[in-house]
This record gives sequence, structure tokens and C-alpha cells, in this order.
Amino acid sequence: MSEHKIETVRVHLVTVPTRTVHSHGSGDVGAIRSVLLELVTDTGLTGWGEASPWPVFTGTVEANAAAMHGYFAPYLRGRDPVQVEVLMNAVEKILVGHHEAKAALECALLDLTGQICGLSIAELVGGRHREAIPLSFSVANPDFGKDLEDIAAMWADGVRLFKLKTGFAGHSFDLMRLEKLRAVYGDEIDLRIDYNQGLPAFDAIRHVRDLEPFRPTFVEQPVKRHEREALAAITRSVDVPIMADESVFDPKEALLGAQMRLSDVFSLKIMKSAGIRRALEVAAIARAAGIEVYGGCMFETSIAHAAGAQLMAAVPDLRLGCEFYMSTYYAADDIAQDPFPVKGGLVHVPKGPGLGVRPDAEKLARYRSDLLI
Ligand SMILES: [Mg+2]
Repeated sequence: MSEHKIETVRVHLVTVPTRTVHSHGSGDVGAIRSVLLELVTDTGLTGWGEASPWPVFTGTVEANAAAMHGYFAPYLRGRDPVQVEVLMNAVEKILVGHHEAKAALECALLDLTGQICGLSIAELVGGRHREAIPLSFSVANPDFGKDLEDIAAMWADGVRLFKLKTGFAGHSFDLMRLEKLRAVYGDEIDLRIDYNQGLPAFDAIRHVRDLEPFRPTFVEQPVKRHEREALAAITRSVDVPIMADESVFDPKEALLGAQMRLSDVFSLKIMKSAGIRRALEVAAIARAAGIEVYGGCMFETSIAHAAGAQLMAAVPDLRLGCEFYMSTYYAADDIAQDPFPVKGGLVHVPKGPGLGVRPDAEKLARYRSDLLI
């Protein structure tokens, strides 16, 4: 029991402009729409968290803002923020789904607890296995010429991991881009592929086999979320490692994925799992089954990126890096007080206490957004 009580709950909708549109097998994105949750204690501490829904993947900002306002806030007022697991279990009983809002709440509670204890979130949930994580950028511009310019600039910054978003403009466009990147950057570039569910299951294996000569490190979510038998069949049929993203949200789906050997890798995302500790449960199931994990994200500001970096610092084994690039290379601006710590192609895990990244009040006001309803 701590001496701190949650007194005020504030919900901030933000829309942060992006430098360009990114295309995926499941649609286009041209702005980062998030819900920031601010918890203030009676002792004057402030904890922050972010819900970053993607409507075609997880949910909407409207539903998650309503969850925070209507369901979390009445329960949270007067509660002790350090009872993180107790509060999160209670919230799971109050409201089904809304994983992104729950991720924001858990993050804000851990941010407060970290400030109270003088520890970073990574230390609170197990420790800092690493201080820096290799950064992957997603190549998703329908104008590939613009992507080549961006890749050259990031290459100069030290970025070596690039994930091609495929399945939105045809197989030959995907093969052409892979061929070009291998020709320009040789073996030094670490190429990955993400279909975002964009391949029809009936001939997905043939498409994936065509990619193998370009030696991708992995191929992510070729088929639809619910087509798990097809995904497991692809995993069995090709040599390139297959990653499950949309098909594995939380520990229950991770257990199913491990039992049916759905894939060789799981993408961890706090927006899918409903928080850092549930993502660590997914990582524990993966580890027990010999399945690799990867640091994934949604369309986020640096508040959620910082939570993801704290998570990935606490994961014991991490060989494939993370993709917390949005605030550095995709957003036209960020809402944080300081730039998200990316340097030399690495995400540097924010130092404690707590989350280690905070919104700037002026930017929060500038990018404030209204509900669509
Ligand atoms: Mg993905």
C-alpha cells in the first residue's frame, strides 16, 4: 500500500500529422490518432499512457476514449496506483476488449509506480536486459522512389533493418522492390516482409516461396488473422521464418499459437496484449515453445513507443529488434517534451523513473483532436 491516491483522470485525443501516407495489406494510414491517458495523484504525481488503436486491426480511438471516460475513471478515483495487477484485473472484469485503453492505463499506473519507487518501468517488470534495441523501419510508401530516398537517409543514420509492407500493390511490385533493395544494399541490409494479412490463403505458399531468393529474415502475417490453419501450413511449408502479428494478440492466443506451431516468431505489441505485463506473458509462452519474439508497434507517438521500449528491455531474448520508428521517421512532429531516443540505428531505452518520456503541454494542445461521433 502506498500513500498515493489517484485523484484526477484526464483523457486527451490527439491527431499527429505524418510526413507521408503508408500503405499496407490492410489499408492506408496518413495520421497518428491516439488517446493519451493522464492520471494525477493527490500527492501531485502525473502518470501517462497511450492507446493507439488502428481501426482495421484493433479498434477505434472513439471506443477507447469512451472506455477511459465512462468505465475506468469512475473506478480509478481514490485508488492506490501501485496496485497495478489488482487494478488491471478489476478493469478486465468491468470491461471486455478495449486492449489499447487497458495498455494506456497499465502504462500510466506503472509510470506512477516507477516515480514512487525511483525505478524505470523495465526494472519494475523484471529488469533491463539491454539499454538499446536495433530499429527497423517499415517501407510502406506507395511511391517507392520516395522510400528509396528515405532509406538512404536512414542508412546514413545507421539503420540496417527494413521491413517491406507488401500485398497492397501486386506481387510483381513487391518482388521488384526486394530485388532493388538487395541490389543497392547487398547483404548488409536486413530485409523483412509484412503482408498485414494481404495474401489470399489459397496460393499464399507460392507467393512466399517467390520471396525466398531475396533471403528475408522473416515474413509477417501473410494471411488473415483467423486463418490460423493456413498460417501454420505456410510455416511448415517454407524455409523462411514466419511471424504471427494479427493472429496473436494476448496470452490465450499465444498459447493456441504455440500449441499449433502457428509461426516461428510472435510480434509483441502492448496494444494487442492490453499492456506490458500481458505482453511479457506472451513472451514467456513463446520462450517455452522455442518461438522468437519481436518488438512491434501500432501508429504511435513516443509515449507508447517508450512503453514498448520498456517492455522490450525486459524481454530476456531479443534477436530481431523493434520498430519504434514512428516519432523519429514517420510523424511530422511528436507530442513529447524531448525527441524519442533513437541514435545510430538503435532505440535507446528511456531511463527512469517510470516511463521516461512525457508529453509537452503546448504540443498536446496543438494536436488536440475531436471525437468523430
Ligand atoms: Mg505487422
